[in-house]
Amino acid sequence: MRVFNFSPGPATLPLEVLEQVRSELSDWQGGGMSVMEVSHRGKPFVAMVRQAEADIRQLMGIPDNYKVLFLQGGATGQFAAIPMNIARPDATVDYVNTGSWSKKAISEAKHYAKVNVAADSAADGFNSVPPESQWKRTAGAAYLHYTPNETIGGVAYPFIPDAGDVPLVADYSSSILSEPVDVSKFGVIYAGAQKNIGIAGLCVVIVRDDLLDRARPDVPSVWNWKQMAEEGSLANTPPAFAVYVAGLVFQWMIRQGGVEAIGKRNRAKAAKLYAAIDGAGFYRNPVAKDCRSIMNVPFTLKDPALDKPFLAGAAEASLVNLQGHRSVGGMRASIYNAMPDAGVDALIAYMQEFERRHG
Ligand SMILES: *Cc1c(COP(=O)(O)O)cnc(C)c1O
Repeated sequence: MRVFNFSPGPATLPLEVLEQVRSELSDWQGGGMSVMEVSHRGKPFVAMVRQAEADIRQLMGIPDNYKVLFLQGGATGQFAAIPMNIARPDATVDYVNTGSWSKKAISEAKHYAKVNVAADSAADGFNSVPPESQWKRTAGAAYLHYTPNETIGGVAYPFIPDAGDVPLVADYSSSILSEPVDVSKFGVIYAGAQKNIGIAGLCVVIVRDDLLDRARPDVPSVWNWKQMAEEGSLANTPPAFAVYVAGLVFQWMIRQGGVEAIGKRNRAKAAKLYAAIDGAGFYRNPVAKDCRSIMNVPFTLKDPALDKPFLAGAAEASLVNLQGHRSVGGMRASIYNAMPDAGVDALIAYMQEFERRHG
């Protein structure tokens, strides 16, 4: 039996996709082999990769002057690859720190460039986004990096920063494809796949052409964006199964009506969950209202002693992986694209029932 899996990542996948994987697992495209066993230089595999690229281009409306790369090493690999590709060692790079993932990106970048933290939201416990007017940016910074959706804190930007002439770099790991985004505002968008795209082992990097000539000579070739762009992400053996699953998820998204339709559903799912949290004061979400994530919804119970019974009862109701991150405590419901309405409805019904019994 399938449960409703609210894990922040690796996260729930569309059941349709899993069933398609099962149906063609041992015999992919009639070749008598699985997709994990075929040559990555063979025509069917290369065509599959190009189709996945075409589909994400269509879904996100990615302009022609951007490359789409399928890389390994996760988003964390890109924390290092970004400065190596677009900042010289003596350059200053600007970062906005809105929580756990920003912090990790910052500490990795420090190995490769001078990092200026242009703003942070420490003053309110990382529960909001510092207003852009207060950011202390560096003139001539190599880029400006931010985290549109903080997966752990459940904090999302209500705006796209205006970086001016400086390339804007965004870690979209937990919110890519969750709603329409104007890609032309960015220099680089990157996202680990295991939240909204598919499975771990793959990081999608979308990079504007004019940034491809800035790499240091010592960037590892698997993370050299220009080299990977020239080789169509096939400079070495790619994470074949992860790219394949991503392609199936993109096709599932197209069948769902694309990012616009899915974004509307995501907003509606999040709105009803926040309404349930805000209801009678039994549950609480600490994030500034205009910065609430539609993907990751943290909440606490009135009395932390109720956390354990809440989680145990939830598991009995097939609602799993609701425990909050160890750094935050409480609960967190991750409601990515693949979380059906029925899952959010079941969670809300369970929360209301729990409140009736313990409130
Ligand atoms: C999950 C996540 C990461 C880390 O991704 P890996 O693929 O595990 O390296 C980075 N940033 C954000 C915002 C995330 O949600």
